[in-house]
Amino acid sequence: MPNRSVAIDGPVASGKSTAARAVAERLDLAYIDTGAMYRAVTLAALQAGVDPFNEAGVVALLAAAPIAVHPDARAPLGYRIYRDGAELGSLLFGEDVASAVSVVAAHPRVRTAMVEEQQRLAARSPVVMAGRDIGTVVLPDARFKVFLTASLEARVARRCAELWDRGVNCDQTQLRRQIQERDRLDSTRLVAPLRPALGAVVIDSSELNADEVVERIVALIRS
Ligand code: C5P
Repeated sequence: MPNRSVAIDGPVASGKSTAARAVAERLDLAYIDTGAMYRAVTLAALQAGVDPFNEAGVVALLAAAPIAVHPDARAPLGYRIYRDGAELGSLLFGEDVASAVSVVAAHPRVRTAMVEEQQRLAARSPVVMAGRDIGTVVLPDARFKVFLTASLEARVARRCAELWDRGVNCDQTQLRRQIQERDRLDSTRLVAPLRPALGAVVIDSSELNADEVVERIVALIRS
C-alpha cells in the first residue's frame, strides 16, 4: 500500500503552508509545516547568541533542547511546536529569523536531526507536509507530490498583503531582495536543495487564489 502522505514543496511564499493545511483538513490528515522547525532552530541560535554559520554550535543547542512538533488542527498554526517543552509562537515568523534561517537550514547535521523528526511523525499517521525537500528527501515514497510555485512578483505581493493584514509595514524592495536571497540559498545548498521531486506535479499559483490551489491538489489526489 503506497504511503498516503502528501508532500508539498516550493519556494518562499508560494502558498505551501496555507494549501497544505487546507488540504489536510479536507482529507482529515495531520499537517506539518517543516519550515517552522528550521525557524525554531534558528530562533534558538539567535536567542543563545550562537552564530547561524556555526554548525557545531547550532547542533549543540539542538542536542541540549530538541525541537518537537505535534499536529493539532485546532492550534493557531495547525500544529504545535516546542523547544525544551516550551511552546513557540509568533517569534518564529519575525524578520530576524527569516534573515538567518536559510543559513541554519543549509547545515547537514541540522537537516539530519530535522528529517529524523519529520519521518518519525509521518510514520505515525499519513501527513500533509510542507517544505523544501519533502518529496525529494523526507518522504520520497509519498503517494502525492506537489511542487507549488508562483512568480516572484506574485509572491512578494502576497507576503506584503499578509504583513499589512497583521498591521506590519512592508517594504516591497527589501522583501523582494530577502525572498530572492532565501530562494538562492535554498536552491544552491549541497544537501537537499530546493527542487521538484521526481514525479511531482508542478502547480503555478501566480494566477490562482488559495481556494483554487487547494481544489487542484484535492482533485489530483482524488483522481
Ligand atoms: O517555509 P518557510 O519559509 O517557513 O521556511 C523557512 C526556511 O526553512 C526556508 O527558507 C529553508 O531555508 C528552510 N527549510 C528547509 N527545508 C524544509 C523547510 C524549510 O530547508 N523542508
